[in-house]
Amino acid sequence: MSRLDDVKKRAIDEVEARRDELIELSLRIHANPETAFQETKAAGWLTDYLEAAGFAVERAICQIDTAFRATYGGGRPRVAFIAEYDALAGIGHGCGHNIIATASLGAAIATKAIVSEAEGTALVIGTPAEEAAGGKVFMASRGAFADLDVAMLVHPGNRDVAVTYALACLELDVQYFGKTAHAAARPEAGINALDALVIGYSSVNALRQHIRESARVHGIITDGGQAVNVVPGHAAAAFLLRAEDDDYLEELKDKVLACFRAGAEATGARLEHRWGEDARYRAMRSNRALAEAYRRNMEALGRQVQEDDSHRSMGSTDMGNVSVLVPAIHPTVAIAPPDVSIHTPEFRDVAGSEAGHRGLLDAAKAMAMTAADVLLDADLRRRIEEEFRGGE
Ligand SMILES: [Zn+2]
Ligand SMILES: [Zn+2]
Repeated sequence: MSRLDDVKKRAIDEVEARRDELIELSLRIHANPETAFQETKAAGWLTDYLEAAGFAVERAICQIDTAFRATYGGGRPRVAFIAEYDALAGIGHGCGHNIIATASLGAAIATKAIVSEAEGTALVIGTPAEEAAGGKVFMASRGAFADLDVAMLVHPGNRDVAVTYALACLELDVQYFGKTAHAAARPEAGINALDALVIGYSSVNALRQHIRESARVHGIITDGGQAVNVVPGHAAAAFLLRAEDDDYLEELKDKVLACFRAGAEATGARLEHRWGEDARYRAMRSNRALAEAYRRNMEALGRQVQEDDSHRSMGSTDMGNVSVLVPAIHPTVAIAPPDVSIHTPEFRDVAGSEAGHRGLLDAAKAMAMTAADVLLDADLRRRIEEEFRGGE
């Protein structure tokens, strides 16, 4: 057995030795769902566990109470496992983030066993609010992912995939200001802000036929007027624009805004708009060299990893903002049948089931094995780095 195989076996044994504790922790987070920035119990349990396992823990980093960093070892390479642990309002852990958190924790502890004798550092970075606000977006701008060599996160899903795609995503809020009037007695005195918005909305529908197939524009009306007998003097909507890359997102911005300008032009209402640039999600850049190492390790564990040919496999993730700063992967591990989609009560139930536990343990093992590759294989590190630099 080669040294690398030997080290990987030790990482697997380490996860197996903690199997019951990892499952118990996953179930505890699952049974106590906490939404964006409220994840105090989960963050507390994860950091306490890591501290007891010998990691140096920093709590409430990046001015976020439920964000944390746990570090073991010293020197390079610095291998980070990214943890998410927020739930969905009303559904609970319908995205299975209890599995993400526990798998990253298990992988880090298994990697600790490797780092003990090789040069390098194992980290868990706890990132709140993936679902609602994009905690990693803020953490990235506050330096949380600086000075890392690789970052990994495995998301539960319907298929085993190593290279995943996620779209860049940007919010647009629009408001129209018109003039109220009695809708029957003096309609000619009014300027209808809702009409302006409907024209804008319909224009976006027309635009949609002529944009790239992978791009998405979708939205809701958040204010359509207050009283049926009053010409609406105010109307508002929230939209999301998504694209495969930032360049196309920039193109889309101009096109979509022109649609809403048309509503203002047609009705005389005044348009105000705001781009959510401070919370912009970047497209996911999966590092293929790192993903290939992960795929081999997952297959060694007995899972058949599929080639992801679909650029639509995911919506958007704030892991994209990590992937532009450090070579990163965001694979999926199959825990649910194809007809059970994430963000449903059915998926939530799977995330706390035997299949969920299997996914968690395999993800922890495969990530730790991939960390072994990174720590011991200088040639792989060079390829990961070259690919990352080449993509800039
Ligand atoms: Zn989700
Ligand atoms: Zn998720």
